[in-house]
Amino acid sequence: MPRKPIVAGNWKMYKTIPEAVALGNTLRSGASGILDREVVVAPPFTALAAVAKTLEGSGIALSGQNTCWENEGAYTGEISPIMLKDVGCRYVIIGHSERRHIFGERDETIARKIKAALDAGLQPIFCIGETLEERETGETLAVLRRQVKEGLKLIQGADMNKVVIAYEPVWAIGTGKTATNEQAQEAHSFIRTLLEELFEKNIASDLRILYGGSVKAGNVDGLMAQPDIDGVLVGGASLEADSFLRIIKFER
Ligand code: PEP
Repeated sequence: MPRKPIVAGNWKMYKTIPEAVALGNTLRSGASGILDREVVVAPPFTALAAVAKTLEGSGIALSGQNTCWENEGAYTGEISPIMLKDVGCRYVIIGHSERRHIFGERDETIARKIKAALDAGLQPIFCIGETLEERETGETLAVLRRQVKEGLKLIQGADMNKVVIAYEPVWAIGTGKTATNEQAQEAHSFIRTLLEELFEKNIASDLRILYGGSVKAGNVDGLMAQPDIDGVLVGGASLEADSFLRIIKFER
């Protein structure tokens, strides 16, 4: 079965509610009629309810940018997976490199978040990727192996068809440096082979692996032409409707 591509926009800590609604409205009209790829947006928590309303019935899916691993409790400042589900999210980004490197998230917590998200009926967009230092010292594949094994250790095979992986080399996020098509394909193919080893062949071949890291209108077509790249997770270029719509309309 061909894997349906995903173009996901991570709005990070940008956009007030009116700004988020305006972007949602423009995307809604600009992406109407696109059925052969999934479009996902991840606004900040404060704008989720308003953007959910704006996108209702549009086919554009909503994602959280992070979640707690518990559904409720004394966790001041956290948002739970059932709350994200309740506000209309289908997806949630988990383990983004900014969470790992700025907020100290570890593989252990990420594994619990992925499990909690799946239990709440959300699809995790599970982010992995090596730092520049790890790439330069030849550790890329070992880091990816550790992150995948640890992050997915609580997940049974049957739930794996809801998981999406995003390979995002840390050195390419927000830096303007994109991995070459060959570097990205090498990592994606390694991840798919690893999934085959850890789960089953059909799980590995059906699972969507997105690339993220300075994706722009000018490089998306080359990335999407790679056999193991099933979509993109876009930060900066998803904040403007024109650039994100061009990425949504990538050609293979
Ligand atoms: C991201 O936030 O996941 C990302 C890839 O950001 P950017 O596209 O700005 O590098």
